[in-house]
Amino acid sequence: MERLILIRYGEIYLKGQNRPFFEKTLINNIKKTLEPFGQPKVFKAQGRIYVENLQVERVVLDRLSKVFGAIGINPAWKTDKDLESIKTMVKTAMKDALEKTTKDNITFKVESRRADKNFPIGSMDLSREMGGFILKSFPGLKVDVHNPDIKLNIEIREHAYAYHENIPGAGGMPVGTNGKTALLLSGGIDSPVAGWMIAKRGVKLTAIHYHSFPYTSDKSKEKVVDLCRLLTQYCGPIRLHVVPFTEIQQELYEKCPDGLLTILMRRFMMRIAEIIAQNEGAQALVTGESIGQVASQTLEALASTDDAVSMPVFRPLIGLDKNEIVEIAEKINTYETSILPYEDCCTVFVPRHPVTRPKLDRVRKAETFVNAEALIQRALEDIEIYDL
Ligand code: ATP
Ligand code: MG
Repeated sequence: MERLILIRYGEIYLKGQNRPFFEKTLINNIKKTLEPFGQPKVFKAQGRIYVENLQVERVVLDRLSKVFGAIGINPAWKTDKDLESIKTMVKTAMKDALEKTTKDNITFKVESRRADKNFPIGSMDLSREMGGFILKSFPGLKVDVHNPDIKLNIEIREHAYAYHENIPGAGGMPVGTNGKTALLLSGGIDSPVAGWMIAKRGVKLTAIHYHSFPYTSDKSKEKVVDLCRLLTQYCGPIRLHVVPFTEIQQELYEKCPDGLLTILMRRFMMRIAEIIAQNEGAQALVTGESIGQVASQTLEALASTDDAVSMPVFRPLIGLDKNEIVEIAEKINTYETSILPYEDCCTVFVPRHPVTRPKLDRVRKAETFVNAEALIQRALEDIEIYDL
């Protein structure tokens, strides 16, 4: 008897001719995720992915539950297709299930599937026989076919399999199947969530962070590196670009109208991001903005930000409330890091009275007071790269 993990995948089925590409990408992403845990055998058979030759531990299952494209993960057992071996396996699986429940008066149900029609016992008969065997082996259990505490699945294929646990997968599509985008990643709560949401649709990320040293500390940079690293568990490898932003902020602060400072800063962020995105083969920009959350996220301000670039800008959080964003941040485990108290954009450069409905012609005009091209060029020259 061996242990293994079965992985079910969902939306991939919709993809018709592309399906092999999606499956291959998913398998590669699973292999990549499992690299720290050894060299498992990962392969596809009958519409599922099998992970064999690996210690089945919680950390492994936890990692797998973050891989986009998988909808369910079943830690399983595998044995020969004879009744005695199957019984031994069923006993082991039930023991495991019982150890994991704290309930009293436990009920169970056996569900069998016979994919190999050469196996002499039909699904119904096998369920009945194994149900009887479990009742005998574990006195005190009861059968409940409608709402059991434990559902033991038995499958007869090229081998016999059993599992009782279904861990929900991350859903979405395998990262790498839908192109690449550049995520503007601050140290805040929103942008990591925005990146996660885009990656969930199979999109690879490259990340860009603007750093205002010495107004913002090394700690704030480390925090962004940490956030990026947390994201890699879902999104696969991410190249993080840390862009020096102090000079741009100082110039804007000195030479442009105070009320437009934030909007101008954001336009510079977008422009630089667009250039990096082009160099990295990314096709769109992603931000963590949502309508009306702050002065720079009114419809006018967003339009003014978009005006600085020609690439599409995706804002997956656009219609979410802060508490809804926090909920996702908690779920994906970025929240705790995001709320660490290191400021990302220096408070010195925040206007006292930000214009909430910037007029585009005024914004464009204000920008001519600085030498945008030279500023952008210098920022690009001093980028620090982290491959995470
Ligand atoms: P977040 O929680 O993501 O920081 P926020 O609600 O604080 O968002 P802003 O500070 O206005 O909003 O930033 C809006 C978006 O601009 C962010 O979601 C992020 O995509 C981008 N952004 C802001 N600051 C930075 C930065 N220092 N580096 C990279 N991107 C940034
Ligand atoms: Mg922020």
